Amino acid sequence: MVSPRKENPRGSCLPGLRSRGDSARGRGERRPFIKYTYRFGSGTADGDRTMKAVLGGKGAGLAEMSLLGLNVPAGFTITTEVCELYSAALASNEPDAVPKALAPIWDEVRQGIAHVERAMGRRFTREGVKQKAPSKNAPPPLLVSVRSGAAASMPGMMDTVLNLGMNDDVLESMLSSPPGGVSSVAHERFALDAYRRLLDMFGGVVLGLPHEAFESKLAARKRAAGCQLDTELGVDELRALVADYKTVYAEHGAAFPSDPETQLRMAIEAVFASWENPRAKKYREINRLTGLRGTAVNVQAMVYGNMGEDSGSGVCFTRDPSTGEKTLYGEYLLNSQGEDVVAGIRTPIPVASLKKEPRAGLAECYANLQEACDVLEHHFGDVMDVEFTIERGELFILQCRAGKRTGRGALRVAREMVREGLCTKPQALATVEPAHVQQLLHPRFDPADTINDQTDVIARGLPASPGAAVGAIALTAEAAEAAARRGEAVVLVREETAADDVGGMHAARGVLTARGGMTSHAAVVARGWGKPCVVGCGSMRVDEPNGRVEFLKEGKTRAVLRVGDVLSVDGETGAVVKRAVRLAAPPSANDDKDLAEVLAWADEYRTLKVLANADSGEDAAAAFDAGAEGIGLARTEHMFLSTPERTRAIRRMVLAVDAASREKAMAELLAFQRSDFADIFRAARGKPVTIRLLDPPLHEFLPPQSEMARFAAEFARESGASAAKILERADAMRERNPMLGLRGCRLGVTLPDVTAMQARAIFEAALDSRVATGIEPDARVMVPLVSVPAEFAHQRRVVEEALEKVLVARGEDARLSCKIGLMIETPRAAVVAARFVEAGAEFFSFGTNDLTQMTLGLSRDDAGAILARYLADGIFPADPFQTVDEEGVGVLVQACAARGRAASTTLEMGVCGEHGGDPKSVAFFDKIGLEYVSCSPFRVVGARLAAARAAVARSGLDSR
Ligand code: ADP
Ligand code: MG
Ligand code: MG
Repeated sequence: MVSPRKENPRGSCLPGLRSRGDSARGRGERRPFIKYTYRFGSGTADGDRTMKAVLGGKGAGLAEMSLLGLNVPAGFTITTEVCELYSAALASNEPDAVPKALAPIWDEVRQGIAHVERAMGRRFTREGVKQKAPSKNAPPPLLVSVRSGAAASMPGMMDTVLNLGMNDDVLESMLSSPPGGVSSVAHERFALDAYRRLLDMFGGVVLGLPHEAFESKLAARKRAAGCQLDTELGVDELRALVADYKTVYAEHGAAFPSDPETQLRMAIEAVFASWENPRAKKYREINRLTGLRGTAVNVQAMVYGNMGEDSGSGVCFTRDPSTGEKTLYGEYLLNSQGEDVVAGIRTPIPVASLKKEPRAGLAECYANLQEACDVLEHHFGDVMDVEFTIERGELFILQCRAGKRTGRGALRVAREMVREGLCTKPQALATVEPAHVQQLLHPRFDPADTINDQTDVIARGLPASPGAAVGAIALTAEAAEAAARRGEAVVLVREETAADDVGGMHAARGVLTARGGMTSHAAVVARGWGKPCVVGCGSMRVDEPNGRVEFLKEGKTRAVLRVGDVLSVDGETGAVVKRAVRLAAPPSANDDKDLAEVLAWADEYRTLKVLANADSGEDAAAAFDAGAEGIGLARTEHMFLSTPERTRAIRRMVLAVDAASREKAMAELLAFQRSDFADIFRAARGKPVTIRLLDPPLHEFLPPQSEMARFAAEFARESGASAAKILERADAMRERNPMLGLRGCRLGVTLPDVTAMQARAIFEAALDSRVATGIEPDARVMVPLVSVPAEFAHQRRVVEEALEKVLVARGEDARLSCKIGLMIETPRAAVVAARFVEAGAEFFSFGTNDLTQMTLGLSRDDAGAILARYLADGIFPADPFQTVDEEGVGVLVQACAARGRAASTTLEMGVCGEHGGDPKSVAFFDKIGLEYVSCSPFRVVGARLAAARAAVARSGLDSR
């Protein structure tokens, strides 16, 4: 078999498909040379990871590991394209469509099984084919696993069936021929264990029988035998259990197909079907996984971790995913199979203990595992998450993928791997998720809010994913989701989590489970999202039906909490606190060596500048501390509301009914604005400060209706005007559709004296700060919500006149340069871009929040319920207010930028909407060649990283 690895450039696909220059492939059109399956095992493979889209992540990983010479049980992968065919056939609703669509693959599947038989030296049973009389020392029969695996990792979301090929005949033949060195009792135990697992999994996954039905039979047998663990069940009990499981089929009117080939066919179809199961769909929706063809199906020889105490299975990371420390990190269980380790049924053992196991071969397995991990790290240049199984002292690797890690872990790994020469800086940057790093800078428990270890801390679990969370207890995923929709903070508390819980986990601030280890479902999923999580809190009893959670100490009740009670969890220490702990302000990016170094690389590779949206000197200082290169948006109205005095002044300005009191209010505002702006200029130390003229509808400044009369009376008393007139004016101010009313530059055009006052405040503040610091200020005035060039020209004139006046008032040699530009927030503005340049605009700042609102005709304030619906129904792929709608709003931005650029080579362009802090949107803005993004101070660090990752991906520097 020839490896296509060397010849295949990155991203290319099927050998013999795209490589033949066949780019215009019609959907569903198939050529005879295209394979449906790809084989791996025994040091060879038909495909590799460049074919992830075709083989899925798991299949590509298995192929790649085979090529690396790791001990991988042989198998073959049915491609994602077949899943696409399957889904299309299913959707057609035509009778026979599915069997027809799948008909061509079965020949290859049969050949694949033959390949596995050859490679493993084991025989897959076929009904009707006479079995050789079992002999002493015969190899175990070939059973296979049928495993899902899409191009993107979707841990545990789709289905897998193990031990396929087992039936009564195979069982009996196994019983009569235990392999050498295994007692017949141990072997019988193993065979029965495999059988009962198959009956359970096949029933659940393929036939849709309730898993609980099997669980309750198992529990009953354990109870009767007086044992705690599955592994304590004896041969007789297991035999009875197999019979019990068969009755579950009978009770549900289902039949277990004893023919292994039928089992295989049905399982393959079931795995394809699991692509569309609700939890898989939900996971793809939450993680915004779009454009995937479906799942591949991996059919692989079973290796048996349940063959006794010299066998086992486990999972391990090549480095500690929480801290990034270079040490094997994981867990295993002897005499176990499949999901036993993550299911939390028995408490798994830390992988380091494997080297001290007395049983023959196990210490060697540890050494082999360490070696395999080294090979994988060198090859992939990344931390890998590895699944392994030990069959009678022989180590097999069953899966590898890039290891999910915390922000802390990601940073340390990136820094050390670059130092160790395992990857380049751009490659390392590609492994650090902006969201995870953001999370590092998220709140922790405030050390000033002293937590009493005796009275406050009611339990401790494993610190599975760092960060602190405070919220009301929710015991089900649905409850957590419902509460989050109401805007409430919740902590999801569960016995353990399963794939069905992902929606609730995502909605919760944090997750707490009673069972499971550091690689349990809850831990892995939470770490992937950077969500605070504590697992394995063994002293906690979750009583879901009664809505209560009990915490024990030395067997006695220590505390009982109920649904809705507030709880705090610390994912860094594992502490569970029975009250709301105050959260501390986030730490600075500069205090963290790993982060500082990775950010320095980010700055080296990014082309986009990162500015910040800040409305006060304090916010600006925080933004500069996080590495902002300027202020891209200072919203003057926020200052008006920052103190009672300022609020009163703006209210008086808005409601003044005579010139004198209006002027008085304006003078007050001028003083406030000047000092606020001066704070920002001082913090900026010469970096650009872009100040937006007054933007919101004036009624937003009015007192609430309930306070209106009191305000009017007081203002009337002090100004000598009539209270009735003031109230009348307030009434006149109310608008039907204020978002489309008197706001943005329409305010400035209607009330030019407000623009003049603001401009004066900006220029005086700039000059003051120059005097105070000796640093030349870089002031920019930004006109909001412009649609026609004449609006901009009008405001520009007012601003320039104000500048003139300030300079004259300051004396002979006063000078100040200032750029005047506008926000592109209406589709019309985007279209007439060039005309603004003619009207003297020196910069464009894309206000993508309003631009999205106006382009979609969807109110930002009322979109909540509509968005929830649209996202659930897949009508919007993502919330357009979070991630820029590339094909609509994005195209407008791109076209506007191109026109602006054509009209002026010195025009500066950037984005100051929420999208400036969203990694996916940042990548888009990088691609279309804008100069900067501006985002809230706390997102600056993430944006720097996102901009670097976008640049690195654009130039292909991250490819391995
Ligand atoms: P998931 O995608 O949910 O991780 P997998 O396909 O990896 O599902 O299967 C789950 C587990 O089943 C594996 O971690 C492994 O322990 C076990 N398993 C799968 N295939 C085999 C096999 N060929 N031999 C032994 N165990 C297997
Ligand atoms: Mg797996
Ligand atoms: Mg706006």
